[in-house]
Amino acid sequence: MKTRRVFLQRAGISAVALAMPTLNPLLAMTKSADPLKNYAQTLRVAIMGLGSYGTRVAEAIQSCTRTKLVGVISGTPSKVVEWREKYGIPEKNCYNYENFDAIKDNPDIDAVYVITPNALHKDQVIRVAKAGKHAICEKPMAVNAADGQAMVDACKEAGVHLLIGYRMHFEPNTLEVVRMRKEGELGEIRFFQGLSGFVIGDPTQWRLDPELSGGGAMMDIGIYSINGARYMVGEEPIWVTAQEVKTDPVKFKEGVDETITFQLGFPSGAVASCLSTYNMNYLDRFYLNGSKGWAEMQPSTGYGPIKGTTHKGPLTEPIVTHQTVQMDEMAAIIFDGKEAEVPVNGAEGVKDMKIIDAIFKAIKTGGKVDLTFG
Ligand code: NDP
Repeated sequence: MKTRRVFLQRAGISAVALAMPTLNPLLAMTKSADPLKNYAQTLRVAIMGLGSYGTRVAEAIQSCTRTKLVGVISGTPSKVVEWREKYGIPEKNCYNYENFDAIKDNPDIDAVYVITPNALHKDQVIRVAKAGKHAICEKPMAVNAADGQAMVDACKEAGVHLLIGYRMHFEPNTLEVVRMRKEGELGEIRFFQGLSGFVIGDPTQWRLDPELSGGGAMMDIGIYSINGARYMVGEEPIWVTAQEVKTDPVKFKEGVDETITFQLGFPSGAVASCLSTYNMNYLDRFYLNGSKGWAEMQPSTGYGPIKGTTHKGPLTEPIVTHQTVQMDEMAAIIFDGKEAEVPVNGAEGVKDMKIIDAIFKAIKTGGKVDLTFG
């Protein structure tokens, strides 16, 4: 049976990082002035979309041991100036949305991290793939499964990786619950509950524009409960039912969901009951029930610290910056062929999109929608 240490090591969280979560583990282990020199293959990333989450990722990369921010793709020249100065990015590594295909001729960039509004991901990732660069794409990877599959196909054809920014797949307390479930400590899994939501502000933002968001709360925050149900239960759902409630049809116009409750059924007979909303705060909670025990996490998918308890007591794994661990793990996936304990590849993203498609269909038809995964 795997020990917790082996499990965390496979998940890429070293003993040093465990002991000193805020410290760069390589710096702690070497006397080199440049810790990046110690790795033959540093993942040199350009961020596309210098918005709120792109900024968070850029900051987190500063603590990475084998990932470096080396470029930007932006439609806002003033941000490019600011980022160049802040992160020492050379002018030759700066692009806009019109000219970034030229990145194919830039040998100093390995991957592009797409952090733009949801509906733009598909075309942007396909262009990145055609430029021969690895693509990292934020969730939701697309606005439906067909678009997601087109992205997977384009990356496959170009021979590049497509990874989705599922940061929770590298989060230590989350991985500890996954380990407990995999090793049978929770017994047979019977039930999962996922509650994901917040009250959205500014009615003019792209998240409430269906042309850019591809949906509403479900695409943005409900996807955490979908994805969480899959990695917590450890199976793929075979059916979906769903119900929608809209209290403000002006703010949440046609094509933008406000509140959806949905249920998933799994092959083992386990069921999930979830809530996705843009109209309630304090909703970031997972509960997993098995024949021998349980786990609850709250917050379960926020930026942390992730907190939780199981029938054995509190979860006490180290607090990490999610995006720092994620980016170094992605470097290992790309360069070392490492497999993430909970996958983050494009196919994984397509599964979530298939479930979202099925949820929207279930709302329309009012019935149960069957799901199959190839
Ligand atoms: P923001 O609005 O803060 O930033 C998006 C950026 O995309 C903009 O600043 C802009 O950057 C660029 N952009 C390009 N075209 C457009 C357009 N037509 N309208 C608006 N912006 C445009 O959004 P977020 O950073 O919050 O979200 C971006 C993506 O990241 C989404 O897919 C979201 O789901 C995901 N996300 C993931 C999180 C996670 O925890 N994994 C958390 C938050 C978001 P520029 O000016 O440089 O062109």
